[in-house]
Amino acid sequence: MRLFRCACEAAFAGSFAAYSPTGAGGASAPVPASGGPVDRSVLEDIAAASRILADQGVVDGFGHVSMRHPNAPDRFFMSRALAPALVTADDIMEFTLDSVACEDKGRSGFLERFIHGQIFKARPDVNAVVHSHSPSVIPFGLVDAPLRAMFHNAAFLSEGVPVFDIFEQFGATDMLVGNNDKGVALARCLGQHSVCLMRAHGSVAVGPSLPMAVFRAVYTEVNARVQTAATLVGGGGRIAGLNGEEAALADAVNLGAGMRAWELWKKRVGAA
Ligand code: MN
Repeated sequence: MRLFRCACEAAFAGSFAAYSPTGAGGASAPVPASGGPVDRSVLEDIAAASRILADQGVVDGFGHVSMRHPNAPDRFFMSRALAPALVTADDIMEFTLDSVACEDKGRSGFLERFIHGQIFKARPDVNAVVHSHSPSVIPFGLVDAPLRAMFHNAAFLSEGVPVFDIFEQFGATDMLVGNNDKGVALARCLGQHSVCLMRAHGSVAVGPSLPMAVFRAVYTEVNARVQTAATLVGGGGRIAGLNGEEAALADAVNLGAGMRAWELWKKRVGAA
């Protein structure tokens, strides 16, 4: 039995039956009100985050990033369904936390936007979410070896990394978090952590700000590569990663110093 795999979903299955997803919308469904206009720079930053994640190898043709509306906690922004490297400010849409679009322009949101809405609903401290299939991370959702903090930039992993196994509650599926029930289950598995792996799929990384969520997504991928290398170099023996006290001290630095990486990454994608 692995340490953090979420086996709790079945216990809550009854409560999901009463949950009424509204994400499907409908021809006659009213369009929810916007949380209000935001500065263009907010939309440009979300688009930049999308392109940064592609530039850093965290997302490819798939994956997405979102940000909570700065003035309306029950709304969030993310791109229309589009390859992340192509996203510009004009592609950003606004959604309710049930992932219903606050517009009626015929644009499609991502199939897995429910990941974002339900995490924002469950975690008032989270203001940005990244979902990716970053390749070095996926193995750690498949095996019993837990993903651990290998170095200071990935200190946020030291709190433990849960694994969401969609099969446990929903049986055989297409693996996508494609409705609010599945989003609720994923958010429950994430709990108060910064990162949650998704078995045979990918992962999510969250943060108190857009730059910090991007930072954590990037360094989750880097950490997975380092851990895989350390495992190979060490022949499967002991790995001297960060201890809890070291991680707490290092993460406090990352919250400030992470902005240095953000400015560099923005420049690389022409958004400085
Ligand atoms: Mn996905």
